[in-house]
Amino acid sequence: MSADCLFCKIAAKQIPAKLVHEDAEVFAFEDINPQAPTHVLICPKKHFSSLADAGAEHESVLGKVALVAAKIARDRSLGAGYRTVINTGSGAGQTVFHLHLHLLGGRSFRWPPG
Ligand code: AMP
Ligand code: ZN
Repeated sequence: MSADCLFCKIAAKQIPAKLVHEDAEVFAFEDINPQAPTHVLICPKKHFSSLADAGAEHESVLGKVALVAAKIARDRSLGAGYRTVINTGSGAGQTVFHLHLHLLGGRSFRWPPG
């Protein structure tokens, strides 16, 4: 756990969140400022700040994060399409430096994104 990390505090239940999934390695919760009818954040429990800081030791948990997103999408019947996003670095809009994957669904999405 990283002492000043918001998402580590959510993982440790020190800050409340609407949890939608938890297992030994991954947790997922509703985004506090949803940008779509479904907006869930999926995170590794073990802290690392971004994809830019990921190494070979994170290979399996990154796969797990993606598979948990797909499971939540299935559970919520987002078969019409959904968007998964990992913002990496402030230039891409990352504001919380604990790796997380956004799962957005329930509306249509344009490409390219803003
Ligand atoms: P990013 O900008 O990619 O780093 O995404 C950070 C996300 O965390 C944003 O979509 C925020 O709305 C969300 N967020 C910030 N604080 C909280 C919180 N306490 N609980 C749930 N989501 C949060
Ligand atoms: Zn953290």
